[in-house]
Amino acid sequence: MWFSSYKLLEKKKLTPDVYEMIFSDWNETTNKPGQFMTFMLPKTKFGRAYSICETSNDKYIFIIKRVENGRWWSIEITDLEVGEELKAVWPSGHFVLKENNKAKMFLATWVGLAPLYNQLKAVADLWLTYKTKLIFGLREKADLFYAEKFEELKEKINFSYEIYFSKEEVEWYKHWHITEYLKSENIAGYEEFYMCGSPYMMDEAIEKLENLGIPRENIHNEKF
Ligand SMILES: Cc1cc2nc3c(=O)[nH]c(=O)nc-3n(C[C@H](O)[C@H](O)[C@H](O)COP(=O)(O)OP(=O)(O)OC[C@H]3O[C@@H](n4cnc5c(N)ncnc54)[C@H](O)[C@@H]3O)c2cc1C
Repeated sequence: MWFSSYKLLEKKKLTPDVYEMIFSDWNETTNKPGQFMTFMLPKTKFGRAYSICETSNDKYIFIIKRVENGRWWSIEITDLEVGEELKAVWPSGHFVLKENNKAKMFLATWVGLAPLYNQLKAVADLWLTYKTKLIFGLREKADLFYAEKFEELKEKINFSYEIYFSKEEVEWYKHWHITEYLKSENIAGYEEFYMCGSPYMMDEAIEKLENLGIPRENIHNEKF
């Protein structure tokens, strides 16, 4: 197992409880699209996994949700000050983008977007031409982040997206859970499915996809 130190270079609040945190990568570690890093948090002395959302030159970008009623790890990491350093295990994990030309649909709730955005960025960086679609679910409009990045992806690759708010009806957006989208007419033409987010969403999505005839080996998921 390989550890390195990563310095927090920037911290930005994207929504009331989601932070974008940019760490340095002086060690030039490599990652496959969809992998995570395990940060060792100095106060609580435990490791916590965070999916790599984006890499840019010598930087790793993460999106981290502050869970106020959790066991403190997300609070400790989002409380870090710019300039502080953390030890982390090099990128690992098997939830990676498959190297094939199959059209792919991505299903994310909240910060479950992180590994999926990393995979979509890889599609763009490699100039891959197959069809991609993201279905992104949040509670309400105030939770929305990265909408501008989805528009940028549309300029670069064969990409479309739908955003759902479960607790608010907003014009131009879909209302209710993202699993509502999983109907035969909507998934027609998509061969592989990648999903990350709430375990409840993923269980329901897997069941619906299997009932629609998608083989389990074409459904890939990461549980937080
Ligand atoms: C492979 C992997 C990748 C991960 N990547 C990310 C990531 O990119 N961004 C991120 O914010 N977290 C990510 N997580 C979750 C992260 O490791 C922590 O579990 C999270 O920060 C909460 O820790 P906590 O101690 O504050 O709360 P915990 O005590 O661990 O959790 C408290 C409650 O919050 C729920 N919860 C945990 N994480 C989330 C979440 N992200 N959104 C909503 N509810 C949650 C738990 O199910 C639990 O009910 C990832 C986890 C794994 C295993």
